[in-house]
Amino acid sequence: IKWTEGRGWHDAELVPYAPLSIDPANMTLHYAQTIFEGLKAYKQPDGTVATFRPRANAERFQASARRMAMPELPADLFIEACDALIKQDRAWVPESGEASLYLRPFMFASEVGLGVRPANEFLFMVIASPAGAYFPGGVKPVSVWLSEEYVRAVKGGTGAAKTGGNYAASLVAQAQAAEHGCDQVVWLDAVEHRWIEEMGGMNLYFVYGDRIVTPELTGSLLPGITRDSLLTIARDLGYTAEEGRISTEDWKRDNENGTLTEVFACGTAAVITPVGSVKSERANWTQGTGEPGEVTMKLRKALLELQTGRTADTHGWMHPLG
Ligand code: PMP
Repeated sequence: IKWTEGRGWHDAELVPYAPLSIDPANMTLHYAQTIFEGLKAYKQPDGTVATFRPRANAERFQASARRMAMPELPADLFIEACDALIKQDRAWVPESGEASLYLRPFMFASEVGLGVRPANEFLFMVIASPAGAYFPGGVKPVSVWLSEEYVRAVKGGTGAAKTGGNYAASLVAQAQAAEHGCDQVVWLDAVEHRWIEEMGGMNLYFVYGDRIVTPELTGSLLPGITRDSLLTIARDLGYTAEEGRISTEDWKRDNENGTLTEVFACGTAAVITPVGSVKSERANWTQGTGEPGEVTMKLRKALLELQTGRTADTHGWMHPLG
């Protein structure tokens, strides 16, 4: 779907997957006016297909667009585009279990020009890719690196938007995590370098017995849809679920004194992933037992059962395609 100044959204079309031809002076290549989303379609037990909370993705996409001086795509059009792509060939949606069809809606400046200013032409597209179970051999805890050198986002920056630049800026820290033998980066706040924000592509939850806490939305972390869903699912299951502030010292101390029983990350791609160990320049510890915890696995099961249609959709989160 194209957007042009003065005309708005026009020329929606469904075309075979193919490379794009890009002008060397395409503004996105130079000034990175680009945003994206990620959501999944799951095969339901009756053979139909449903996406999980696409309106929440559509609304976050609009928020990202506002931050990046891009036009807002109406939510219905966002959802219709995703539906149309899935319906084109339902065979792409894998049989249930944990497999899904991952959808990647995105928008970028399609205008050509060398001056720095908001573009006047954009292209919105959706591509899809089947995704197998994230942990084919069983859930495996990840090791994390607390990045004290780099920050992902600052107050007033683009941290709450799903824009390419945030991910580009995170790559050196991800490489540093790998050098230290860790799977993922954990980002801290940009001012004091001690408040936990989020992981590379996932939000975090801290489990204190039957109370679960996730870092509050400070404007510099992505408001994850899985994070938001889990606040509700956890309450449905009888847990206390809240947003709060957790520092690196809290994490280390509460793990040592045994009050912090589990830590897990959550996001569309990995659903729920336990955190097994933590490393930084100054510290190195095993989180809890280092094995997937009971609350983590219970929430993981509840979320997946909802997404794959094995439990009732009491919150109206599933969007059936018929
Ligand atoms: N934080 C970041 C930086 C992400 O890229 C993602 C993945 N979209 C998340 C958190 C989790 O968000 P969601 O649950 O909507 O996938």
